[in-house]
Amino acid sequence: MPNDIPSDTPALRTIPRDQHTISRKDISPNALRVLYRLREGGHEAYLVGGAVRDLLVGGHPKDFDIATGATPEEVKALFRNCRLIGRRFRLAHVVFGREIIEVATFRANSDDGSGDRETHEGGRLLRDNVYGTVEDDAVRRDFTANALYYTVEDFSVRDYVGGFEDVQNRVLKLIGDPETRYREDPVRMLRAVRLAAKLDFSIDPATAAPIRALAPLLSEAAPARLFEECLKLFLSGHGVASFEGLERHGLLPALLPEAAAAMKANRSGALRAVVLEGLRGTDARVANDEPVSPAFLFALLLWPAYCRTLMSLQAQGVPPADAQRRAADRVTVHELQAVALPRRFSVPMQEIWLLQSRFGLRQRKRVMRMLAHPRFRAAFDFLQVRQAGSDEHADDIAFWREARLDPDMAIAHTPAGEGEGENGADAPRRRRRRRRTVGASAV
Ligand code: ATP
Ligand code: MG
Repeated sequence: MPNDIPSDTPALRTIPRDQHTISRKDISPNALRVLYRLREGGHEAYLVGGAVRDLLVGGHPKDFDIATGATPEEVKALFRNCRLIGRRFRLAHVVFGREIIEVATFRANSDDGSGDRETHEGGRLLRDNVYGTVEDDAVRRDFTANALYYTVEDFSVRDYVGGFEDVQNRVLKLIGDPETRYREDPVRMLRAVRLAAKLDFSIDPATAAPIRALAPLLSEAAPARLFEECLKLFLSGHGVASFEGLERHGLLPALLPEAAAAMKANRSGALRAVVLEGLRGTDARVANDEPVSPAFLFALLLWPAYCRTLMSLQAQGVPPADAQRRAADRVTVHELQAVALPRRFSVPMQEIWLLQSRFGLRQRKRVMRMLAHPRFRAAFDFLQVRQAGSDEHADDIAFWREARLDPDMAIAHTPAGEGEGENGADAPRRRRRRRRTVGASAV
């Protein structure tokens, strides 16, 4: 099916080397090697996609993708260090130690990025890919900014879709009719928000307009792909901007339905404040090259849903420990129907939630056990993030800060009576001020 893209060959604009800012020294030497070798082999070859776009705005691309007229087999014949991947649509990976240069043969029709088989069904592309020309390859890409081709033939940039001007104007514009392109692949809606956040681009009004109405289509996207998109949205250093973009374009309820509903129902805005605070912290960690974890991220994103579910279970009279367990399970099952969070992340995510109810403990044995818990660090970081939504946690934070360094000292500093006689993690606490549960404090 046509993408509402004019069937005649799009006009080519060539931007010569002295009119753009891409310099060979900013391109991976391995990518350059592949480009030169392909050309020597008599094939058309370009640097393409995110790398060209990022270089034009002065960024440092993480990966360098190449598009070529050579078939995967022809690519393989040119490189000893090459392996072919993908079943329906084969891609060549040229491997240089830890760096992989992906080389794709020009494709003729749109793809959903999954590399899978494609046919049509209600506007969605599921049809087989076929090889094409560089012009075909340009128009099947998503945004004009992502469809620029850099060549080492004369170091020019080739532009078939007006992408160069759009990059100069810092605007993301879908190629073709936006609604058709979103129906083909709803994940493009997330990509629009994500790339706008990452690059600090605006989204062209015509590209932004259909998103709100089409947002529910996201539920048809492959859950594993949505998980990958979530990681890129929130763990790449622009999580706050991504989150605000998703809200602005009405995508949050489609991506994280229960969390979005819980934030909406939470009049004080405390739950949203916690999520944003956590994302700010995550962005700062990325900026400092510190590690970030999907388990912590999802504990944060789904925290509003967890709190809301927990409160409703407690309101029904379910005892706290039971309610916590059930809320954690319920939220995990419901919310992750759309987004496939692997178990190796969902288990620690739940642990982070469940440990939140134990920060009121002061009994030595329990304090020691908590400190030794493999998820203590993450849970304590999480508690500190929760301060953005409530000032109730200050005492606990002070206690555990000290306990981490010297548990006996921290316990000695605890006013007499506190923490004594507790017979279970979720037993009612002595001090009235502490007589609360995670659910009751809500954030
Ligand atoms: P980044 O790597 O910064 O996240 P990117 O644009 O490089 O952004 P990739 O997922 O690496 O994103 O995709 C590489 C290129 O493939 C894109 O620049 C675009 O040209 C094309 N592409 C990716 N996803 C789609 C899609 N869903 N529909 C059409 N083209 C796509
Ligand atoms: Mg990329």
